[in-house]
Formats: sequence, C-alpha cells, structure tokens
Amino acid sequence: MSSPEEGFSLPIEARPSLQEAARDRFHIRTFGCQMNQHDAQKMANLLHHAGLAASDRAEAADVVVIHTCSIREKAEHRLYTELGILLARKRAEPGLVVGVGGCVAQQEGETLLRRFPKLDFVFGPQNLVHLPAMVDAARARDRSLRVDYDDAPGERFDLPQRHPAYASPTPGRAFVTVMEGCDLFCSYCVVPRTRGREVSRPSAQILAEVRALAEAGTSEVTLLGQTVNAYGRPRPGQIAGELAFADLIRRVAEVPGIRRIRFTSPHPSFVTPELIRAFAEVPELCPHLHLPVQSGSNRVLEAMNRRYDRETYLEIVARLRAARPGIAVTTDLIVGYPTETDADFEDTLRLMNEAGFADSYSFKYSERPGTPAQRRGLGELDDARVQARLERVQDVQRSLTLDAHAARIGTRLEVLVEGASRHGDGQLTGRSDDHRIVNFRASGPAALGSYLPVDITGCTPHSLLGTSPGIPA
Ligand code: SAM
Ligand code: SF4
Repeated sequence: MSSPEEGFSLPIEARPSLQEAARDRFHIRTFGCQMNQHDAQKMANLLHHAGLAASDRAEAADVVVIHTCSIREKAEHRLYTELGILLARKRAEPGLVVGVGGCVAQQEGETLLRRFPKLDFVFGPQNLVHLPAMVDAARARDRSLRVDYDDAPGERFDLPQRHPAYASPTPGRAFVTVMEGCDLFCSYCVVPRTRGREVSRPSAQILAEVRALAEAGTSEVTLLGQTVNAYGRPRPGQIAGELAFADLIRRVAEVPGIRRIRFTSPHPSFVTPELIRAFAEVPELCPHLHLPVQSGSNRVLEAMNRRYDRETYLEIVARLRAARPGIAVTTDLIVGYPTETDADFEDTLRLMNEAGFADSYSFKYSERPGTPAQRRGLGELDDARVQARLERVQDVQRSLTLDAHAARIGTRLEVLVEGASRHGDGQLTGRSDDHRIVNFRASGPAALGSYLPVDITGCTPHSLLGTSPGIPA
C-alpha cells in the first residue's frame, strides 16, 4: 500500500460557474489518515456554505488551508516545506489568507504563530466548525481570532447535519464519523494528545447521516474513528444506553440503499464475538478488516502498551476467517521500535506469514513529542538497520500480496467504479468488496459509482487486472 500520509488535494469540481467566478476561492491541502481526509471534506463544505468557491490549485486560491498530520516526523516536515512556499507568496500578495489545521496545529498551537508571524490562523481537529469565522477575521485583518484548539465537543459531530455535503469527492462512497479520540495511549503514538479523549457520537445522528447519504446516492459507507470499534463503550461523561459497535453496523446495514459497509481503524482489544458474528451474518459488511498489529513480538507489543499478544491477535484472525471465509486481513506495522532486537523483528516476519496479510502499511518508528516513549527517552535505533528491516517487511508483504492477488485470477468480482485508472491508459479503476484495487477495461457502459462485474485476468503486487462487460442487463 502507498503511504497514507501522501498529501492530496480535494478533487472538487474545478471549473467555476459564472456566479462562482466572482467568489473568493479556497484550497485545502491535506495530509494524513482517512479521518483527516474526511475532516477536509467537512472544511470544504463549511467554506462553501460561507460563500467561497473551491479551487483545485493552491496558486489560484485566495484562502489556503494546510491540513496537517503529526503521526510521524516526516509528515510534520511537509507542513514546513509547504508553509515556506505559501508565506513567500504572501509577501507579494498580502491579501492571501493562510491557515494551518489538523494535528500539528493542535500539537504546536501558538508556537506556530510565533515561528511564522505572517501565518493568519491555527486551529485544531476539534475546532473545524470555527473555520469560516477565522477566515473572515483574517480577511478583515482582525487578529483576535488566530488560535483555536480548545475542544468544542458539542459542535464537532453535527457538521454534516447543519451543512449537507455539496460535493462528493468519490461517487457512491462516503465516510461517516462515529467516534473520535483515543484513550489507549500506545507508547509511540501522538493521537491521544492531538485528537483528545475518546468520544462516541450519538447513534441517532450517525444513522440520520447515513440515511441522508443513501438518499443522495451513496451505497458504500466507511465508519470512521481512531479506535472505531471502541464505539459506544461507557466512558466518563458519555451518554448512557448507546449501541455497541456491532449493533451499530447492523442498524447501518438496514438503511435502504446501503450495499457496502467498511470501518477503520479498529483496535484488536475491541474485536468482540458480536463483531465477528456480524462478519458472518451481515452481508453488507465487506469481507475486509484492516486490523493494525504493529509488531509480532510479545515483548515489543508490551513495551508499546498494545494490550494484546501475538497469540490473541492470530486467534482473532482465525475466528474472522471461520466466520467469513476468504476475508482479507490487512494491517499496520512499525519497525525499529526502540529496543527491537533481531529476534523481535523475526517474530514480526513470522506473524506476517502466519496471519497471511493481504496488504500492509509499514512504517519506521518515529519519535513523537509528548508520547510515553519520548518521555522515557528511548530514542531511535540506527536508521540504516531500521531501513533494512523496513525493506524486508515490504519484500515479505509483496510476496504475500501477490499470492493473494494470484488466487483471484479466474474469478468474477463486483467492483464499485471510482474513475479512470491512474495509468491514464483508458482503463477504469475501482475496489472489490475486499478492498483490492481493480483496474479494468469495460466493453459496455460504466457509470462512476455503479457496481460492475469484472473478470480477473491478471495481477500486480498493487492491483488486480480484468475486463468487464459493463452494466449488467
Ligand atoms: N488507531 C490505530 C491503531 O490502534 O492501530 C492506528 C491509527 S494511527 C493514525 C495509524 C498508524 O500509524 C498506526 O497503526 C501505526 O502503525 C502508525 N504510527 C503511529 N505512530 C507512529 C510512530 N510514532 N512512528 C511510526 N508509525 C506510527
Ligand atoms: Fe494511537 Fe494506539 Fe490510539 Fe491507535 S490505539 S490511535 S495507535 S494510541
């Protein structure tokens, strides 16, 4: 899998209508996880409803928001590169408004404004709702609203209700936030610090959003949360009597028009027997689970404070496969956690083979400010050694993925059509229900957001290849 923190810009309709041409234009540059991508959609929505028009190019925009990720140091550095370019432009165009949002903004707060005095404003992930007011203040040269990162809990979940989406970046598919924050404090992870404590969204709000999306043509929803399957567990200050996560999935599946349900990211500690049963009994729940394991060594898992061991993880995978034969299991792996020995690393390679991961994201450990590992002064291992480990993990994964893909040659899969293939060769691209990328040629009509049968004829380590007769009669 490619790195999830690659920057992307929202693929919003770029050609302005005559009316839009007169409006100020905004551009949002986003890095990071699906939660950030979804937050970027919410921000675009807020700015649209505040009267601005979207631009697909930062250079053509009057308001630019850099929406940051701080999960690894590399992701954080991208902010400084992009900010440097924008603030240089602002010297020639003083009317340009530049804001920084997301996890680095939450982490650094006013420090960013002190370091970059020309920066107009900084806001945290819990404060998206105030973005239009911050833009207005910056345009009016009012410097009283430049920092906003205190939690606005009552407001963060109901944005989709207040402002129905005006443009779906991917026809047929949508993200729906079900919870935010994390109370688990893995020793390497900055998320509890940037995204705050675990909060579940009221299920009535979630179901209302899913119904509205389905009525507008969405058939695939991805339920989002930092520890999404912790949804509904009793936390201090939470509303009592909410649904458990498996029950929420069943309720979403009952919404007319919903054909596929996914969720990310789950934590192994909350993969309950009820959730495994849902994989057996709810056909709308896709046969794919992205279940981060991080390491195959029990010693390292304990040092990471992951709260499970390799045996428990493999047991979950076995139960999932028994409940839903053929389910694709994918994962996240961190290599080079401080103190990771060669033997620990070999345990990770063994676990990859035992679990038979269809795919994985793998990362070099990156020390993050304020995390338990950083506070303990554990440091980082020698980079050349860690790089060599990363390459071995990626080699093992390539071969596992190729095996998983080769096993699908000769089968017919149902694919949700997302658009033209990135190769620009006239092929279309979409995803199978088990989340494989499928590039294919269609000999008949193929509307974006429709489901097509695709006969798989070949594969690469990145995708399946095939042909489709087009929309079935
Ligand atoms: N909540 C999910 C879980 O429990 O696994 C993970 C969410 S995190 C945004 C995505 C992935 O980033 C993690 O699974 C982990 O592999 C990776 N990650 C997080 N902190 C990291 C760090 N300090 N260095 C390297 N990778 C890290
Ligand atoms: Fe980070 Fe661990 Fe929480 Fe996942 S469960 S967000 S890795 S602290």
